[in-house]
Amino acid sequence: MMSTEGRGLVLEENLLFEQSQPGRVGYSLAAPDVPMTVPDAALTRTEIQGFPELSEVDVVRHYTRLSTWNYGVDSGFYPLGSCTMKYNPKVNEAAARLPGFTDIHPQTPEALNQGALELMYNLQRDLGEISGFPAMTLQPAAGAQGEFTGMLMIHAWHEANGQKRRKVIIPDTAHGTNPASSALAGYEVVTVASNGILTKEAVAAVMDDDVAALMVTNPNTLGLFEADIRGICDLVHERGGLVYSDGANLNALMGISRPGDIGIDVMHFNLHKTFSTPHGGGGPGSGPVGVVEKLKPFLPLPVVTKDADGYKLDYDRPQSIGRLKSFYGHFGVLVRAYSYILSMGGEGLKRATELAVLNANYIRARLEPVYTLPNKQRSLHEVVFSEDGLQNECHTLDVAKRLIDYGYHPPTIYFPLVVHGALMIEPTETESKQTIDEFCDALLAIAEEAKDNPELLKQAPVRAKVKRLHEAMAARKPKLRWESE
Ligand SMILES: *Cc1c(COP(=O)(O)O)cnc(C)c1O
Repeated sequence: MMSTEGRGLVLEENLLFEQSQPGRVGYSLAAPDVPMTVPDAALTRTEIQGFPELSEVDVVRHYTRLSTWNYGVDSGFYPLGSCTMKYNPKVNEAAARLPGFTDIHPQTPEALNQGALELMYNLQRDLGEISGFPAMTLQPAAGAQGEFTGMLMIHAWHEANGQKRRKVIIPDTAHGTNPASSALAGYEVVTVASNGILTKEAVAAVMDDDVAALMVTNPNTLGLFEADIRGICDLVHERGGLVYSDGANLNALMGISRPGDIGIDVMHFNLHKTFSTPHGGGGPGSGPVGVVEKLKPFLPLPVVTKDADGYKLDYDRPQSIGRLKSFYGHFGVLVRAYSYILSMGGEGLKRATELAVLNANYIRARLEPVYTLPNKQRSLHEVVFSEDGLQNECHTLDVAKRLIDYGYHPPTIYFPLVVHGALMIEPTETESKQTIDEFCDALLAIAEEAKDNPELLKQAPVRAKVKRLHEAMAARKPKLRWESE
């Protein structure tokens, strides 16, 4: 079992101001061999009060050391549920950095930009093949904007049919972006209780002719497959509504089941989750949206098309909801996703899904004897425990903080809201059995600590640079400025 002795990190580092040495400089340049032109002395200064005096190597080492304090998927296991923090193969980075892609000016004429357009066209086609949707937009900047895009298209479709429907049904397991996107699109949100899995009866109880759409995540945020989904789609369709699927959990379906075949009308992808683009540090995402044939006219502008002359950006779409994002969306993410799909191949994508599900179920099997599992249905790619059963009034927060001492990024906590003190673990397919065993060992050891040494848990993390922060004050009264003593 891994100890909490840390990984040889030195967590002490003076600020640059404190490292300053009088007279040290960060450059060394030969004397000029041309006459010096001295700017107007009144407009320049020779000294900046308090500016640190350091060499180049001092500065480089300072920032390099600080960078090792950061936690990322390249440094360790990152079991953040709902986020699909899989390892991102570097071959995708190499593809995204090809000069032919990075040097394109956004206003390059289409005729000179056929390679980029071909990539987008092929990515639309491949995502369509994976999901079962005949049409696609690559514009949205992330999942949440994809949801908003989808809701605008649903709105436009109803309007084109002369309908003014005002409500969207969303189950209580939903991610917060679902009600937010619906509200932003002008809808009233009707929450439906799911008891783990959504039933046709529960949807029928709130379905009426004022409902524009049902918005559902499958598998849902408990990691459970919505077993009634086909019947639920039929029910919503019979009453004239559409079904939106939040595709953030596609990592549990890819290559196995296609939402478009199940009866879903609109779905977004999170390329930065399922299709392996680094995220979590605020980097750009991408949230393509797939639609059924009847919603095709409403896709945002432009759509990448192909005819005898080559690839084109089609702006001539009178029923479109319009533009959502400048130029091509987040093109670099599209390149990474396409590279990922090609390097994995169809069988590889299916295998990724199978391993993601296997890994989550392995964790479930190892932890279930000790941690409380409120929903007993079959897990897919993630598993959600509750804090019930932790000894000595230890809470999920304490477990998460203590995991930092063991060298792990904590899982998602207190989401989904329907689980009391939720601890939501998503290992993804990219982790080895060894890594997962070490992580389970740590969680089992922490449960023991809750019995024997609860005070330790409540103080954790004890080995991190900053200890337990006040959850509210850290945000409300952050200390962001350095002050000399
Ligand atoms: C991540 C996520 C979203 C939002 O996607 P972003 O790309 O972060 O905007 C929506 N729903 C679920 C279930 C998610 O996990």
